[in-house]
Amino acid sequence: MKKILITGAAGFLGSHLCDRFINEDYYVVGMDNFITGDKKNIEHLLGATNFEFVAHDVTNFIELRGSLDYILHFASPASPIDYLKIPIQTLKVGALGTHNLLGLAKAKNARMLIASTSEVYGDPLVHPQTEDYYGNVNTIGPRGVYDEAKRFQESITMAYHRFHGIETRIVRIFNTYGPRMRLNDGRVIPAFMGQALRGEDLTVFGDGSQTRSFCYVDDQVEGIYRLLLSDYVLPVNIGNPHEITIKDFAEEIIKLTGTTQKIIYKDLPVNDPLQRQPDISLAKKILNWEPKVNREEGMKLTFDYFKSLSDEELFKSEHKNFESHIKR
Ligand code: NAD
Ligand code: UDP
Repeated sequence: MKKILITGAAGFLGSHLCDRFINEDYYVVGMDNFITGDKKNIEHLLGATNFEFVAHDVTNFIELRGSLDYILHFASPASPIDYLKIPIQTLKVGALGTHNLLGLAKAKNARMLIASTSEVYGDPLVHPQTEDYYGNVNTIGPRGVYDEAKRFQESITMAYHRFHGIETRIVRIFNTYGPRMRLNDGRVIPAFMGQALRGEDLTVFGDGSQTRSFCYVDDQVEGIYRLLLSDYVLPVNIGNPHEITIKDFAEEIIKLTGTTQKIIYKDLPVNDPLQRQPDISLAKKILNWEPKVNREEGMKLTFDYFKSLSDEELFKSEHKNFESHIKR
């Protein structure tokens, strides 16, 4: 049985990846310090004979007994609100955490895949974004802590590959959504769905003309799975190219949820990218991968999940005041 370490296991993507690799009959070691994750995302796995959980902060030295075949490094705050609240931890997990994990990969001769992001392209001047675009990032802006940590993460990963011969893979993930996202993480889908469920107006930032392209989690997991098992070393975009403005998206969510609330407008956060769409030609060619779940279907599955949460979860006070980060 192949053994895989998944960091960020109690988070949204990490927990879905644990499910996938358990179903593929891997022995999965999940690791997390719960800074933005939740135990309930992995509770269903705790009895499985091929799953083990280790509570650990990956910015500290990582010790793991026995052999290891693969590492998926997914630990990192991922929502703009989270990384504005915990900027130093965000920089550390991308830099020190990645360094520790590459050291572990070297010691165990394991293949390591890192979770990079469309944010390495910053506010992109090339559209749609291709992997050979170097990006347009403000190093000292509020999002710089995340963007630069991820850019460093890519650099150190390539250095370990070139200098130490470690087998590495880099996925550049574009906005991915689905069940197990945290209702209060501030990302646009939980934000709008939470507002609809609480009977609040939907807060569109700026004039809503900025665009995003949303990928359903099952498609993302499939792309990551194929990339890990491929022999391609350079970064690969995985996302859904179906692009929409945030204003049109808010209207779609109003229709889907049946809320009678309206859209209200708030300031656009500093350095909020104005456009984002992955060019997925490379993933199509080398992984024979493309997304299968359309937005209507994916949003419905996600809304069903948020609807199933308790009132206590829905009305936690942390759900409000998302705008506090905008002007910093
Ligand atoms: P998430 O916040 O749900 O999950 C991140 C997990 O990492 C959490 O469980 C958190 O507790 C854990 N973590 C953070 N710092 C840690 C540390 N020092 N030690 C151990 N665990 C730590 O976010 P997500 O959406 O699941 O994102 C997972 C990964 O994918 C992140 O690396 C993120 O940058 C990347 N990513 C996600 C998206 C997306 O749209 N979801 C887009 C681009 C990149
Ligand atoms: N956004 C919004 N209202 C919200 C939350 C987010 O209009 O309540 C916008 C945000 O400004 C951005 C887009 O939605 O333009 C996507 O934001 P998200 O935080 O999901 O992720 P990003 O793609 O910016 O990392």
